Amino acid sequence: MDTPPPSHPASHIPAADGPSDKAGLVEAMKAADSATLLLVLVQLTGERHWLERARPYISGPMNYQEKMPDQLRAEIREALLAHLLAFAGDGREWPPIPEGALLEEMLSTAVGEPIGRDYAAMMHQDLDPDHYAPAEPGPFGQGGDAPIDMDAVIIGAGMSGIAAAIYLQQAGIPFTILEKDAAFGGTWYQNRYPGCGVDTPNHFYSYSFEPNNDWSHFFAKRDELWRYFEDVADRHRLRPHTRFGTEVISATYDETSARWTVVFRERDGATETVTARVVISAVGVLNRPKWPEIEGLESFGGTLLHSGAWDPDFDWRGKRIAMIGTGASGHQIAPTIAPDVAELTIFQRSPHWVVPNPNYFLGVSEGKKWALEHIPFYARWYRFQLFWAFADGLHDALRVDPGWNGDGRSINAANDRHRAFMERFIESELGEGSPLIPKVLPDYPPYGKRILIDNRWYAMLRRDNVALVTDDIVAVRPEGVETADGIVHEVDAIVCATGFQASRMLAPMEIVGRDGVQLRKIWKPDDATAYLGTMMPGFPNFFTLLGPNTSLAHGGNAIFVTECQMRFVMLCIKQMLDGGHEAAEVTDQAHDAYVEDVDRLHDGMVWSYPGVKSWYRNPAGRVFAVLPYRLVDFWKMTGSLDPAAIRFGGGGRPAPDIA
Ligand code: NAP
Repeated sequence: MDTPPPSHPASHIPAADGPSDKAGLVEAMKAADSATLLLVLVQLTGERHWLERARPYISGPMNYQEKMPDQLRAEIREALLAHLLAFAGDGREWPPIPEGALLEEMLSTAVGEPIGRDYAAMMHQDLDPDHYAPAEPGPFGQGGDAPIDMDAVIIGAGMSGIAAAIYLQQAGIPFTILEKDAAFGGTWYQNRYPGCGVDTPNHFYSYSFEPNNDWSHFFAKRDELWRYFEDVADRHRLRPHTRFGTEVISATYDETSARWTVVFRERDGATETVTARVVISAVGVLNRPKWPEIEGLESFGGTLLHSGAWDPDFDWRGKRIAMIGTGASGHQIAPTIAPDVAELTIFQRSPHWVVPNPNYFLGVSEGKKWALEHIPFYARWYRFQLFWAFADGLHDALRVDPGWNGDGRSINAANDRHRAFMERFIESELGEGSPLIPKVLPDYPPYGKRILIDNRWYAMLRRDNVALVTDDIVAVRPEGVETADGIVHEVDAIVCATGFQASRMLAPMEIVGRDGVQLRKIWKPDDATAYLGTMMPGFPNFFTLLGPNTSLAHGGNAIFVTECQMRFVMLCIKQMLDGGHEAAEVTDQAHDAYVEDVDRLHDGMVWSYPGVKSWYRNPAGRVFAVLPYRLVDFWKMTGSLDPAAIRFGGGGRPAPDIA
């Protein structure tokens, strides 16, 4: 095994003599967020009075929700400067992240509302650079006297596959990554449509153990994201363990050896086989483009594109373009190409709710980058603020209040307030009385479909060369798109931003577990379920990252979910090694109880509300894709092993009494 590289996050924190550059500090603090500086100051001094003074002026986690008087801001900067220089001067150690009541008070002050004890505990782990220790040496590290051999195949080298590999690597467990594409990065490698980018802020949308203080924008675009994932993979020397251009066809469990046989196809079509004790599927959910089922689509005479399989050589300039679909991908494509096309006709089946974010297009100033890199712990506290802003804060607004009479427009009081805010935003963008308003106003409660950050969508709709068509599409003709009113909209190219085949999880791979059971038969094949989204009964030692019911619809960050899952996987592997068990398998009872709870919770969520449709639900209407829990709940659930839920034993049917 490779020696783990020097990736420990502590290496990102300046040594106690780091910020001795006084001029740099003074400038950086002007660019930095005052609430974040406040947290660093309280960490360094333990002085609570700063919190009390700042509290009345902070109403939320984002910098634009902080309205401290200039005098107080200046005092915080001055005090922090003095302390940082003193620390640097006499070489004292930085105090650790506080715990308990002080931490809870700090976090609550910085986000303008009480965060609660659970959140404080979770954030203590996330804030602490030393928490990144998923493994221990000894048997876990295959130290020579391990009672069983342990190795893994990871399917997919995207965000989850990279995380899985790093966690295994830290534990000293050999692994091979099989990746169908030619590079690391998964979704950020595959998606190349114009405007492609993330809508979770990057200082949060990154691995907990690999902060990047150099993001050019708060919300980075595809190329920069892809580079981040490639860089992380290379820093951890994953390339020698990765076989690119290999597509997994099947994985079959052998009960005698308690090992999986994974068959994959090479670029030249030849098939090969590899075996491993553990298989980690990290294939993602949104990677197989879904083409719309429209009569005559294949007869179109111009260029036909899909957002998820974009032709990077396609030049849209000066062309007449039709775009079908107005989800997250469409909302990024259309405003990006609109200024350069001759005509853009957008075919909308149903509108999305959209919120503005003042930081969405902002670049990160050099001063802020300096602060992130050099002011100790600044980046960690900043990540917490984003975490809160983009994680569970919305959850309450998504739960149906049975006593609320929202008339189909909203599901509870908070949801109604959000609706009013978004309606006002639409009106402010399009102008009072605009004929576009009835077309873009969703007829379902906010958050029923995935919420979108405004990508200058409404501003784009006002352009002379853009038309929004809400009539049903009846067919595609060689010359264009025909709508129910009989008009054929003649175009040079059709862009299908129509989403992905999400519900057939793990397809087209054939996964065969204990007793020859085929996963696709159990999942029927689009009703995927898994304990913690990670383990299925009958499939020992098989783990699915970002599996069923783990996508995030209320906010958050898929990287966080993957890391929660990997910590859980590592607990299973450790238990196997500690106890000399060849197999770990979730019980039917634990799986069924978990799925029952997931379904029960979803029944009360906005995406199950009558009339709300989204890719979160399978054709039968069951919510298979998204997590019903708050992130903090999922973090807790994946943070320990329930001995009654997982059976450890030999390769065959696990003995019921082995815990
Ligand atoms: P999507 O959200 O599933 O949207 C597909 C769009 O195509 C919808 O507007 C849908 O209309 C429409 N559509 C599908 N079939 C159609 C048909 N036959 N005729 C007319 N319209 C049709 O797909 P997506 O935009 O690719 O996004 C999928 C997910 O990927 C997102 O929810 C998100 O999780 C992720 N994503 C994230 C980002 C980001 O972070 N910024 C960017 C892109 C994607 P209906 O709504 O009426 O079904």
